Amino acid sequence: MSESSSSKDSTLIVGIDLGTTHSLIGVVDSGFPILLADAEGRRLVPSVVHFPKNGGAPLVGAAARRMETVEPERTVSSVKRWMGRRDADEAGELCGRSPEQISAEILKSLKSIAEAALEESVTRAVITVPAYFNDGQRNATKRAGELAGLTVERIVNEPTAAALAYGLDKLGDSARVAVYDLGGGTFDLSILEMRDGLFQVLSTNGDTRLGGDDIDAVVAGWMAAEIGVELSELDATQVATLLEVSRSAKERLSEDGVESTTLRLPFFRDAKSFEFDLMRVQLEALAAPLIDRTRGHCLRALADAGIAVEEAAEKLDAVILVGGSTRMPLVREKVEGWFGRTVDISQNPDEAVALGAAIQAGILCGRVQNVVLLDVTPLSLGIETFGGLMNVIIGRNTTIPAKAGELFTNAVANQASMQIRVLQGEREMARDNWELGQVEIDFESGAKGSARVGVQFEIDENGILTVLARDTKTNTDRVLEIRDTAVDVDDAAVEAMISESVEHAFDDMNERIWTEAKMKSEELLPAVEQGLAALGDGLSSEDRAAIESAAAAVREVLAAQPADVAKLKTANQVLDEATETMAAQLVERAMDAALSKQLEG
Ligand code: ADP
Ligand code: MG
Repeated sequence: MSESSSSKDSTLIVGIDLGTTHSLIGVVDSGFPILLADAEGRRLVPSVVHFPKNGGAPLVGAAARRMETVEPERTVSSVKRWMGRRDADEAGELCGRSPEQISAEILKSLKSIAEAALEESVTRAVITVPAYFNDGQRNATKRAGELAGLTVERIVNEPTAAALAYGLDKLGDSARVAVYDLGGGTFDLSILEMRDGLFQVLSTNGDTRLGGDDIDAVVAGWMAAEIGVELSELDATQVATLLEVSRSAKERLSEDGVESTTLRLPFFRDAKSFEFDLMRVQLEALAAPLIDRTRGHCLRALADAGIAVEEAAEKLDAVILVGGSTRMPLVREKVEGWFGRTVDISQNPDEAVALGAAIQAGILCGRVQNVVLLDVTPLSLGIETFGGLMNVIIGRNTTIPAKAGELFTNAVANQASMQIRVLQGEREMARDNWELGQVEIDFESGAKGSARVGVQFEIDENGILTVLARDTKTNTDRVLEIRDTAVDVDDAAVEAMISESVEHAFDDMNERIWTEAKMKSEELLPAVEQGLAALGDGLSSEDRAAIESAAAAVREVLAAQPADVAKLKTANQVLDEATETMAAQLVERAMDAALSKQLEG
């Protein structure tokens, strides 16, 4: 994970849904696919390009769509219909440009949205196309990408991308899914099958001239009839206005609980204004014949995949809806009826393809590990030990599942329990790492170092960390389970932790060495006191003076500011050496005592 984040600039790949009506761009960030928004917070960019009269830079998106009603002849929409077609320029609909050039303007705009959002340059992309696109159309899409300054790493089928967004790749081998995509100007149904971890398109069928735009057109026709004019009597701007008003009314009527809405045409014709109420049921009556036309395509796609319609419910593992027009409740109802099963609507239908493209891009640049998102520990796991130090049990980047343990003992005499603080992080001192949890284990109190506590860390394939603490004398266990956090850490947090540990490497290491030296002094000093008291006159005054001054030196260095690790280590060593004769005498005494005891006995 850290490798891909550290060399971000060269490896970043974005996912793009280059749609007939709308286009979107996304990326995998911290393991999650996200769609990027423009400065106004919009993720759906209308696939419309306007070429201003003054010859300035082309307008793309919402700004271009506003110009459609004003200057339709200088505005291009639905360019995707022309991709790969040689007759495009003759038709004169593309303002003298090729479909690739127009598409490149949309792609450039998406690229700059991404660059602004991510604050880095974007040069590589995955672009989706309909499953029925032929080689010529796929190549034209690729060329459009290149014209926009993007290396097209892969062309992905839209239904495949949608299935990825729904996580259907996790259904496993030979799972079959149907993707029903009703957009602005096109409809297609694709049946996919999972083989060896990849989606294969078993069949696809549809109509490249059927979509939400047609619903807008029938509503506009209805309004014109109400006004008492033929659509052909209206100018291009008036027609565009009718379509625009129809589209927003249609979209509003998809909202939960909205049963009717008002369509307003201020100063529409001969300075006259018009207003109409449209009920949802009326809209549905107008739209039903169009939606019903998709049924035949569904049946043909099923038949081509070898699935009889009666067994569709049973043979399909999922049916998903894609495309903005499937937000209409009537579409959902009808599709559920035809397939005899409920449809999964957990993703936004107009965003699923782009999300899937982002996931595919993430897989290609290593930001998403297929299926199992993370299979190594992003940070070290350990516990706090004496002196507040971090004791690593499972190191960073260990492949999971993983298991490791260590034996610990009590630091002070008469301790009857040990508090185990489970830590995550790369810092030497416990306090600088993150605490994941605590568990307390009791044991029989005794001399310092008499207890034996085993601590075992185990991470299973789901990333669940189980901490087991065992008093090895009695075999009593304490278990603590930590979910998610052990493995599932935000990328940015991991990066911050690692860079902090690098930044503080010297300070951290010095503090660890100082802590260890200090613990050594704290062990030596009381032992020396005890020895001096025990031996009394048995020690030569020279030896005693040497020991006392060495001990005083240790105390002095311990108290000195700033702390001097090297001095403390030397002082410890001098004290250790000074006590050699005393230590030998103490051993001799102990042996004598043991011997006389034996003789007595
Ligand atoms: P494409 O894939 O062709 O670019 P989209 O998936 O963006 O298209 O779908 C655009 C269509 O979806 C338009 O016709 C739009 O009016 C329609 N649409 C968007 N939202 C809604 C809604 N809430 N209810 C009905 N139709 C909608
Ligand atoms: Mg689409």
